[in-house]
Amino acid sequence: MKVTFKRGVHLSYANKEPTKQLPIREFVSDSVQIIMNMHIGAPSEPCVKKGDYVKIGQKIGDAVGFLGIPVHASVSGEVTDVARIAYMMEEPVMAVTIRNDFKDEWTELNPLGSVESVDIDKIVPAIREAGICGMGGASFPTHVKLSLKPEQKCDTIIVNGAECETHLTADHRLMVENAPRIVDGLRAAMRALKVEKGVIAIEDNKPDAIEAMMRAANGRDGVSVAVLKTKYPQGGEKQLIEAITKKQVPTKKLPIDIGVIVLNVGTCAAIADAIIDGKPLISRVTTVTGCVRNPANLRLRIGTIVEDVIGACAGFSEDPGKVVFGGAMTGLCLPRLSIPMAKSTNGIVAYNEVESRSVEEGPCIRCGKCVSACPIGLNPYQIKVFADADKIEEAEKLRVMDCILCGCCSYECPSRRWLTASFKIVKQKLTLKAKAKGGNAK
Ligand code: SF4
Ligand code: SF4
Repeated sequence: MKVTFKRGVHLSYANKEPTKQLPIREFVSDSVQIIMNMHIGAPSEPCVKKGDYVKIGQKIGDAVGFLGIPVHASVSGEVTDVARIAYMMEEPVMAVTIRNDFKDEWTELNPLGSVESVDIDKIVPAIREAGICGMGGASFPTHVKLSLKPEQKCDTIIVNGAECETHLTADHRLMVENAPRIVDGLRAAMRALKVEKGVIAIEDNKPDAIEAMMRAANGRDGVSVAVLKTKYPQGGEKQLIEAITKKQVPTKKLPIDIGVIVLNVGTCAAIADAIIDGKPLISRVTTVTGCVRNPANLRLRIGTIVEDVIGACAGFSEDPGKVVFGGAMTGLCLPRLSIPMAKSTNGIVAYNEVESRSVEEGPCIRCGKCVSACPIGLNPYQIKVFADADKIEEAEKLRVMDCILCGCCSYECPSRRWLTASFKIVKQKLTLKAKAKGGNAK
């Protein structure tokens, strides 16, 4: 039986065709620039200096604070710089640049053995030491997700294999090519938290991934595969939980408040690598597509510069109007091509000039399509009225902070109103205002 959540949209173009059958291939560049704030939480503190020699997997950034995770060298070679670099639109960020000597020398690793026999008290610390954060885009430190407070109890871990965003096929290929590792990572997380139920959830547009994961799950304690209807945003955490458990995560609550934890498929594979091989997170699979000559699913070393990635795909097939991290619905536009990808970079998509043109927004015709589409049950057209008038407190009363910026309302709007973009700004303003007051926006 296929399951799903309420509302959402059926995307008329998913643009997954160019890459969904392409096997993952490895690309390793001449140098990497590894930023220290790839995760939610305090940035890591560089622990190497210019001129040092580093091996793959060697720690180059120490974790800071409870949310902190360490950062590791993704290639071997000489550290050529430790300095702040311009990154997305934020403040400059600290980065360690390493010139690759291609000797592929690994630092000494500390494997813990099979996920079924490892001492369960060692699992979460090993995940932290491996520098693992959510690889589906959110970058939340995984060891924190798996560190429950005494009053919290988890009964189900869901592995998010929906990959509902347009263009992206990295998770799809990982499931087809590396299914046993994903199940191993899930089992490690289940054992660490003494959880008996693990569900791998996959949209029905990936039959080969469903088959591979079912094979890998066969005979593994408590692990099953659930088939989801293909609908956007099926991979949103709350939507996925609704589809699988039929329970809703209440406003201002977290999945763990209803006993659920969601992990991305890449995150699970990274957990297995950390336990079985003792390897930290130094690479990931990224889909590179759009107007590039050879679209691909590439295993990239963390810190690979986007320009090099585009080169690995034989360059642009036509002049790009914009390049984004992620897919069309939630992707972030890159300010330049000289910036490095990070642990959460699941896609690099180039759009041509025509696709990149922004459209003028028209007047609201009160059709209500945005309301029907919103998976959270918000009233986007009304929130937009307040957003345009800069009445952010009024927008807050309409639960704009619950908006997951999925883009469904903008996608459905016949007047092309800039709904999601406006809500993002309102959310940022409310967050800044709350921070100034020393609290959290509601
Ligand atoms: S972007 Fe926000 S308001 Fe629009 S559909 Fe998604 S959750 Fe609803
Ligand atoms: S979909 Fe667009 S035009 Fe229709 S009610 Fe919403 S904002 Fe207005």
